[in-house]
Amino acid sequence: MKLIFATHNPNKVIELKKQLPTHISISDLLELGFDEEIPETENTLEGNAILKATHIHKKTGSDVFADDTGLEIEALNGEPGVFSARYAGNDKNAAENINKVLENMKGITNRNAQFRTVFAVIVAGKLHLLEGIIKGTILIQPSGNNGFGYDPIFCPNGYTQSFAEISLDEKSKISHRGLATEKLVQFLKNHLNR
Ligand code: IMP
Repeated sequence: MKLIFATHNPNKVIELKKQLPTHISISDLLELGFDEEIPETENTLEGNAILKATHIHKKTGSDVFADDTGLEIEALNGEPGVFSARYAGNDKNAAENINKVLENMKGITNRNAQFRTVFAVIVAGKLHLLEGIIKGTILIQPSGNNGFGYDPIFCPNGYTQSFAEISLDEKSKISHRGLATEKLVQFLKNHLNR
């Protein structure tokens, strides 16, 4: 089985290939020479994942999947959510996004949050949505140097360390993306067995 992963992010592809059985092969947009950025104009994770998968499916006619991820904070009504990558502004970096979250969370005792990954999968012309969630809390200040994005301020439930203090292998086992990827692999295996 062959599918396109509608992403330009080589790290996501490496992570995903580690979990995929060898008879399912993935090409990403860089490999296919598809340079065009697909604008993420929807206001939900589902919307953006569907937008990217549909765009590539229309162009290629191939089976395809796309992802979108966000950090959803209870006390901020689900923010930064779909705007996680650009919460502090389009030209801002992860540290500035973290600062904005901590600023908005000042004095707030409800620190509950979750990372959520959505995969939109189009196989045989039919759209399916899959989701992975990890629940945790937002720390008072950043801690740790591993990982990326909001990792230094997210402490998964059942842990005393932030995502930026645990190893990548350990993070992948429990993370939103890891869980969503497991569901994707199971979905593709089931589809092949039909
Ligand atoms: P994307 O949809 O995977 O590109 O994720 C959107 C944004 O969410 C990223 O730019 C990060 O700010 C944040 N993000 C996604 N996954 C993670 C993670 O595993 N740790 C920390 N931040 C993440």
